[in-house]
Formats: sequence, structure tokens, C-alpha cells
Amino acid sequence: MFALDQHPSGRHFLQIPGPSPVPDRILRAMSLPTIDHRGPEFAVLGKTVLDGIGRVFQTRHPVAIYPASGTGAWEAALVNVLSPGDAVLMFETGHFASLWHRMALRLGLAPEFLSVKGTDSDTGLPNAWRRGVDAGLIEERLVADREHAIKAVCVVHNETSTGVTSDIAAVRRAIDAARHPALLMVDTISGLASADYRHDEWGVDVAVSGSQKGLMLPPGISFNALSPRALEASKSARLPKAFWAWDEIVEMNRGGYWPYTPNTNLLYGLAESLEMILGQGLEAIFARHQRWAAGVRTAVKAWGLPIQCADPAVYSPVLTGVVTPVGVDADALRKLIHDRFDLSLGTGLGKVRGRMFRIGHLGDCNDLTLVAALAGVEMGFRLAGVATAASGVEAAMAYFAAHPAATPLQSAA
Ligand SMILES: *Cc1c(COP(=O)(O)O)cnc(C)c1O
Repeated sequence: MFALDQHPSGRHFLQIPGPSPVPDRILRAMSLPTIDHRGPEFAVLGKTVLDGIGRVFQTRHPVAIYPASGTGAWEAALVNVLSPGDAVLMFETGHFASLWHRMALRLGLAPEFLSVKGTDSDTGLPNAWRRGVDAGLIEERLVADREHAIKAVCVVHNETSTGVTSDIAAVRRAIDAARHPALLMVDTISGLASADYRHDEWGVDVAVSGSQKGLMLPPGISFNALSPRALEASKSARLPKAFWAWDEIVEMNRGGYWPYTPNTNLLYGLAESLEMILGQGLEAIFARHQRWAAGVRTAVKAWGLPIQCADPAVYSPVLTGVVTPVGVDADALRKLIHDRFDLSLGTGLGKVRGRMFRIGHLGDCNDLTLVAALAGVEMGFRLAGVATAASGVEAAMAYFAAHPAATPLQSAA
């Protein structure tokens, strides 16, 4: 039974890479009374969030907001622009890329799953799950597709199951270099508002995001950022679409409304989140996440454990995957840490289940919450008898003390 009266004292450490901790300011904003979604007040809210979310995606084009989890927005992206049996090129970077691929199969598309082959000799983990998208492989495959059968290239920006942030601009360049007309579709569910993402500049046609990661909201709303080419493609695409169809949403959004009852209270939360994010500035937020990630990696290196991401060029600013020594069940360790210290760490998903855990450092964090989370992990190691080379907590404290944030804390909203 979910018994709130048995909640432990103090604050739960929600250190998973989404849902991320929801700031009190956002929770308070969401407690306002629900209003008439056809009334004049609502239009102000609707226009405010649509304008603000466009600025976070860095786009001048429409963004659709759905009352759904990120998975719904994945489906929306595919069904709006594709037709039954269409070939799509997807790239295996981890669990979320694999789930999007499985969804494409279930929708009757013909996805091809490109993957870096082999297993890593250090850890025995699949190479594909330790690296980012290889734009060179995409270019090669598109060049070979002379008939232009491939209709879309789908990649995950920040692969939340591994802690890898792929270079989306490089994927755009690969498509252009191959002179291929495929649409570029990007899952930035966990990247948006934490890792640098530039929809228009990078030439992305459809981006997918969700509320419960960098936007610091509870789960429950998700997004499609569009391009003019994507909107054009949606007019002739033949996969069945009704609830997810962009046309009526984009039309009604012009007045600040939706074709159905939107998630009013989550939109209050979104308005508050956007005010926080745009008030602080995207640059400051991206820099803050890079710094936290560097501090956490310093701890993992001090422990002497492998970081899941094997390529320093694509380390995620959002989360760090920690590979446990062979024979140490990462999920048993997570459970021990949760039960003893009320700290939630992300589980290993799919092909890396039991071999790693994930430390989220996104959204509403600061140096001390991260140092405390690392202390929880380090105490867990001791209790589980996991040998570490040195103290990760001390290494992270030294890192944070020696590297002040570029933006002074006091100016943050
Ligand atoms: C969280 C996440 C998803 C899934 O979103 P849901 O809201 O759980 O449906 C998909 N892709 C990535 C990269 C994610 O981080």
C-alpha cells in the first residue's frame, strides 16, 4: 500500500535521470484551481507556454504539447509523417533507442537498426551501449539508398539508459552530405533543458520531449517540435492518426487552445518551469549540468569504476552510468542504498540490467544534493563490500570547491 504517513523524514533523494525532483515553486503553481479550458484566461496560459517551450527547443516553428508521457510523443512523431511500410533508419544507442525501434515495428514501419558491433573487452558490455550515434555509418547507409526509400532517420539525443549525448548536428551534416531527403527525427526527452539542443539551427524535423526530465515537471505532458518540412510531410503521410494529428492541434493552438481538454494544472507547472529556465538562461543551465556531470565523473573515477559512456566526447551532462564490478549485482546494491538511505538511483535497463546503475544530475539539483547522493552510493559500496580505489565523495567535494559555477548562485531565480 502507498502509505504517505509512513514517509521517511527529510527529503527523499530522487537521483534517477527522470522523473527529476520537482521544485516547490512548480508544485505550488500546479496547485492553482483548474480553469475553463475554453475561457479567456486559458488562452493567455496556452499562448505563454507555447511561446516559452518554443524558446527552449530554440525553434520558431510550432510545438505540439500532448497530455501523455514521452512514449506518446514518440508515437505522435512517427504517425504524423510516415506511411505503412516506410523504411526508417534508427540507431542503437541503448534502451530508449531500442524501445523507439520496437514501436516503429509495432506501427507497421520497416525500421533498420544501425549499431556499432562487438562487446567491450573491459566490461563485457555491448559497444553500442557505450557510445553515441556514428554519423559516418548513417551517411554511408544513406548514400547506398539511391532510390531514397528511407523516409526518416531517428536518433536519441541523450540516451538515458547509458549516459551518452549524441552529436545531432553531425547527423544533420551526414544526411546533407549524402544529399538524402530523409526527415531527421530526434528523441530529446531527457536532453531538453539540460543538454544543449537547437532545433532550427541543427535542422531537426521532429523532436520529441517530455515533462519529467530537464523541465523539472511531474510526468504527464510531452512534446513534438516541428519543422516546415515535417508539417508538409504530415499532409500526405498515411499511418492512421487522430488524437496525435498535428493539424488540428496547431490550428487550435494559434488561439491558445487545444482540440481536447489539455492538462491544465501541468500547464501551470510548465509556465512556472519556463519562467525559471528562461529567466536563468539556457546557457547557464547547460553549463551547470556540464559542471555537475564533471564532478560526478570525478567521483566515479576516484572509485576506480568504469563510466558507462566510453567516449569522453559524448559524456552526458544529464546522468552518469556507473558499471559495477563483475559479480556485483547493481540492482541489489541499488536496493540496499534505497532501503538504508532513502536514495533512488536509476536501474540498468535492457542489455545492461544488473551491470550498472545511473546517477541523475539534472533539473533541480545543486552541489550538496549531488555530494549527498554520492555519499549514499559510497556508503552502499562499503555495506555491500564493493572495493573502491579512493573516496569518490572527497574527489567530488574537491572538484566542486575548485570549480565555482560560472553563473553566481545568487543570480539564479
Ligand atoms: C524517459 C525517456 C523516454 C520515455 O518517456 P516516458 O515519459 O517514460 O514515456 C524515452 N526516451 C528517453 C531518451 C527518455 O529519457
